[in-house]
Amino acid sequence: MKQRPLDPIFSPASIAVVGASRRRESLGFSLLHNLVGNEFTGAIYPVNPEAKALHSLKCYPTLQAIPDPIDLAVILVPRQLVQGMVEQCVAKGVKGLIVISAGFSEIGEEGAERERKLRETVRAAGIRMIGPNCMGVINTAPEIRLDATFAPTPARPGAIGFVSQSGALGVAILNVAQDLGIGLTQFVSMGNKADVSGNDLLEHWEDDPETRVICMYLESFGNPRRFTEIAKRVTRKKPILVVKSGRTAEGARAASSHTGALAGADVTVSALLEQCGVLRANTIEELFDVCRALVRCPLPDGNRVGIVTNAGGPAIMATDACINQGLRMAELSDATRQGLRSFLPAEASVNNPVDMIASANADSYARTLAAVLDDPGVDMAMVINVTPVLASPTDILEVIGEVARSRSKPVLAVMMATDEFYESVKHIRDLPPVYRFPEPAARVLLLLSRYGAWVRRPIEETEPEFDTDDAEVAALLGRTAEGYVEPEDAFRVLDLYGIPLARWRRASTAEEALEAAQEIGYPVVLKAVAPDLVHKSDVGAVQVDLRDDRDLTEAIRRTTESVTRAGHRVEGWLVQEMAKGGHEVIFGITTDPRFGPLLMFGLGGKYVEVFQDVRFGVLPLGRTDALDMVRGIRGFKLLQGVRGEAGADVSLLCEILLRLAQLAERHPRIREVDINPFLAGPDRAHARAVDARIRVGDATA
Ligand code: ADP
Ligand code: MG
Repeated sequence: MKQRPLDPIFSPASIAVVGASRRRESLGFSLLHNLVGNEFTGAIYPVNPEAKALHSLKCYPTLQAIPDPIDLAVILVPRQLVQGMVEQCVAKGVKGLIVISAGFSEIGEEGAERERKLRETVRAAGIRMIGPNCMGVINTAPEIRLDATFAPTPARPGAIGFVSQSGALGVAILNVAQDLGIGLTQFVSMGNKADVSGNDLLEHWEDDPETRVICMYLESFGNPRRFTEIAKRVTRKKPILVVKSGRTAEGARAASSHTGALAGADVTVSALLEQCGVLRANTIEELFDVCRALVRCPLPDGNRVGIVTNAGGPAIMATDACINQGLRMAELSDATRQGLRSFLPAEASVNNPVDMIASANADSYARTLAAVLDDPGVDMAMVINVTPVLASPTDILEVIGEVARSRSKPVLAVMMATDEFYESVKHIRDLPPVYRFPEPAARVLLLLSRYGAWVRRPIEETEPEFDTDDAEVAALLGRTAEGYVEPEDAFRVLDLYGIPLARWRRASTAEEALEAAQEIGYPVVLKAVAPDLVHKSDVGAVQVDLRDDRDLTEAIRRTTESVTRAGHRVEGWLVQEMAKGGHEVIFGITTDPRFGPLLMFGLGGKYVEVFQDVRFGVLPLGRTDALDMVRGIRGFKLLQGVRGEAGADVSLLCEILLRLAQLAERHPRIREVDINPFLAGPDRAHARAVDARIRVGDATA
């Protein structure tokens, strides 16, 4: 394999430990101890001016005193000495750096300045650096055996690449991995990510044949756009699992629009991860649960689950858990049921869940599971075993494994057994992933089926592009320096972007309003326009279904009165065509200071507040992403039309999302767009936005 940028860090032939120590409680001792104790296959050079030898290794007073070339330097000296040491490393020709020392951007501006200088130095020298403020790096490859961490727990070889932003959590992760018998290819604690980021690690593992699953514990995204780009590509080849913690204060924002109020930092992260096929686990425990299955199981072709059990109660729990996760229960064919009937006892249930009853032994498990997996209606299986009196759970788990290996569908085992059992099977290879309860197993099945669907999804090479007059749009938006643009400017912008609108006129006087209504044709809708009036119907500024001049005149009087009473100054009116029928939906754009524009779609009008049934998407937004957003709302069935009602034009809804994505991309002055409601009928002729607002401002606002 060709040399990759991070190879000097992961696979060095020689390591200098700058700040190695003989004080047992120091990190410099633990790290050297781990390197030696895990039998690093290369040469180790401790550097410490105060010692002749450390850990039975000859010790050098300075880096320069080492007579041999050094691939990797691990730095554990006090913060104020780090810069000098790194400069010495550059002079020595070191190829990779791990800076364990803390006291950089995590402690404030002074530390951040130190960190900037450090980054400049390594970037100028073309050296890659992990840290600072990190716990180090592990590579379990037998030809390397590198443990350059101060963690007390070693890692076993395996198939998972793990990167943790937090060092403390890194120690915990290694402990849990050890407990569960999970092996890793490489482990990285990134610390402050001054140079090497999670994105670099994704690229490092992308083509690493040993690393079959990538796990990340993240607290922040340095460059979300680049993450999206890389993750979209990598997830086609291997799964990425992320635990993301930490809601940022930046996520709290002005909530004057619905889109802004419904979007939070966490929502953005979820949308982003989902759009690049990354699986999000809620906890480290769940992450390892999913990991074990991804390493050992093939991906399912769908989401239909077959359950095999020796007890009724757990099967009911399992069924509930699967349904709650949104999975489907497989329907077994007549042939499968007859086959099962031929060897299972008469009291057994041959419908899904298949209950073999308590007398089931290893052989019943083998035959039943084989029959269930061979049913074309089953995509994956959960096999439950409540420890029976006669059969050994280990035997049962082994036959489940044998049957699973001979089929190409995922099989998870739920073994309700003792700790001794779990301890005894931990290190047996080739067993199916085992869980103590059906609920985590159901969650794992869901994530497996999601990832399976992602891998099958067609690849979109290009984003759709629409022909739009962006100079004109920029000019309209430019009329407002900061805040909401005039309602008519908002409508014009949307019109220029090809978004269907209810016909409208702006009127300054009652006479103009009556003329406008004649032009548009009754029935019409009247909306008072006033500065800073955002939620119009709240102050009685909207009057719908006005049928003639008399209605309209009366509406002008009423709106003026109530809007004035609410403390606003009426500047004029919008007269609008009265749109009839269609489903009220909402489209929106909001901007996250870190993630950029975020698109929203959901049920609109009064439903927004009550159900908050919306989905978010990030840029770049592809056709499939848009379709996922529209189809992904809980109320999608409503949009398809229930009880004889006409459905909404779904492809038009997707197109509008894509048009808004282009608007957000090309006009970064846009802070927020709210189209609420958009009345969505069965085709383009019966679809129109009736209310829209756009807020603009500087990108830093
Ligand atoms: P706001 O959201 O500021 O209160 P809207 O312009 O959205 O004001 O109007 C409130 C409600 O009135 C909408 O949710 C919609 O149900 C109805 N409505 C507004 N304009 C029209 C229209 N042109 N045709 C039909 N219904 C309308
Ligand atoms: Mg509205």
